[in-house]
Amino acid sequence: MSDFAQTVKQQADIVKVIEGYIRLRKAGAQNYTGLCPFHKEKSPSFSVHAVRQFYHCFGCQASGDVFSFVGKIENVTFPEAVRIVAQKCGIPLPKREFSSPEQAAEARLRAKLLELHEAATAWFEEQLRGPEGAVAREYLAGRGLTPEGIKTFRIGYAPDSYNALRDRLSGMADNETLRASGLFSSKEQGDGSLGPIYDRFRKRVMFPIANESGRVIAFTARTLETGEKAGAKYINSPETPLYSKSLVLFNLDKARTSIRQHEFALLVEGQMDCISVFLRGIQNVIATSGTAFTEQQVALLRRHTSQIVVNFDPDAAGANAAEKSIALLTEEGFTIKIVTLDGGLDPDRFIRERGAEAYTQALRGARRQSDYLIERARQMFPGASGEQKLKAMNYLLPHIRRMPEMLARDQFARDAAQKLGIDSAVLREELRQAALKRRDRVEARTTALTEVERVLLRALAITHPENEQARRLAAEAIARQPSWFEHLGTFSALQALAGRQAHDPMDVVEDPAQRALLADALLAEIKPPEENEVLSAIQEIQERSIATRQRDLRALIAEAEHRGDFTELALLTQQKLDLDRALRQLHNQKPPER
Ligand SMILES: [Zn+2]
Repeated sequence: MSDFAQTVKQQADIVKVIEGYIRLRKAGAQNYTGLCPFHKEKSPSFSVHAVRQFYHCFGCQASGDVFSFVGKIENVTFPEAVRIVAQKCGIPLPKREFSSPEQAAEARLRAKLLELHEAATAWFEEQLRGPEGAVAREYLAGRGLTPEGIKTFRIGYAPDSYNALRDRLSGMADNETLRASGLFSSKEQGDGSLGPIYDRFRKRVMFPIANESGRVIAFTARTLETGEKAGAKYINSPETPLYSKSLVLFNLDKARTSIRQHEFALLVEGQMDCISVFLRGIQNVIATSGTAFTEQQVALLRRHTSQIVVNFDPDAAGANAAEKSIALLTEEGFTIKIVTLDGGLDPDRFIRERGAEAYTQALRGARRQSDYLIERARQMFPGASGEQKLKAMNYLLPHIRRMPEMLARDQFARDAAQKLGIDSAVLREELRQAALKRRDRVEARTTALTEVERVLLRALAITHPENEQARRLAAEAIARQPSWFEHLGTFSALQALAGRQAHDPMDVVEDPAQRALLADALLAEIKPPEENEVLSAIQEIQERSIATRQRDLRALIAEAEHRGDFTELALLTQQKLDLDRALRQLHNQKPPER
């Protein structure tokens, strides 16, 4: 870790930083808990330690320091996480500070690409206002966009040219960087190398895609061409170091405040729907850009809300995308409602034709997902024949099983049976079973810690002058007689801690299960253990290890007797006597009870 990162880490308060993202509750003298932002949960298994400055989730094993938290939740690299934390804490940034040349190069590239996207956005906006932008302006006006709306979303126009943008940006970056931006295309040459770059977006209306901080990282471009020359109606920027389609939710940067205020997000399919709804005052709206939700997008959204109203296009593709998104969101514990608009209209047309009031009304009438799915099952498998009912039920069962709440599953199953008119006892039983058992998820297993392990872990993990003697005692005991400690569940953590240099305790333990145990011990800690406690812990472990060995010996002795192997028997008996003596000595050494 660089000096700067070290400074930031010392000055940053991990509790404050994490509280900027999720709600934390004080759980002990030095620790806080909350719902983990990295996995779905109903009761908090996410802990933050104020003094040791780490977080740990006992549910998904996410663990680390303030930088790892910010890196994970913001989906940024280490140097960027350092910068973000520094900014949050008001620590002035040095000119450039990276721990490796690769990271520095990567950050430079990303910064450059952001710059190029900003310049391109401004230039597209300018083109839209210029004479060449007339057709585009007409198109946008036809879709109900006002000049203010266009400005809000920074919509622009890419003119019909292969080199206008390239000429504009070529002074800002070298050819390789321009290629990496995704703003340009090139043809493969005969020898396999890439030819000269040219403008990727031509004669298209440009919709910028921003990251959560509102910086443009990509574009969606709609063609204004008709007929054969048109190509795809919409094209998107390719994946670049800045942009990954599955990691972005369109409009989240503008919607997030409103999502928090209203405690739900409105999810629509297309960017045009999203823009149109947003500009008419319903600002908690985001779009997936025509694809089903990805897990990363779910994680992104969960930081703001766990309630969602879905309003996809009523066509078959829309219904399928809605269904896929619903499946994933349900599994991740979201509460979902579904809106179907009258007259088969999409959100954009609906709100333009009938107004924001009517649309808000429609949102209020959103149906529970179970009602929506049952209705869909009835539409897909109409009729009262047993076969159709069976198909409808088979369609619903996986949806039922996905719901995390038993009560919700039960209600869903009852509704389905009733609305589908299922009277067969067998089918009813199947529904009941689906309600009873959720599809199992693998729960992270953590073995409980014994008291002696707690003492040792704490003694080894806490570096403090007053604790030094206790720490040394524990470290030496483990180094001297590792075999005593081998049977402990935390052996590898203890060993790593005993041999550690000046690292953070949570950093030296690599195995996630072991780290969970260490986090557990540290979170429960009030003060470092005293020498006496450490000594008794070591003794107890020694005793236990001797007792185990005695038990093994007794079995071996019995076996040797049985075989009539007297040489072996003599050897084993001697060992047992030695052990008995060692055990007696231990008892005599025991520090007096206080
Ligand atoms: Zn977690």
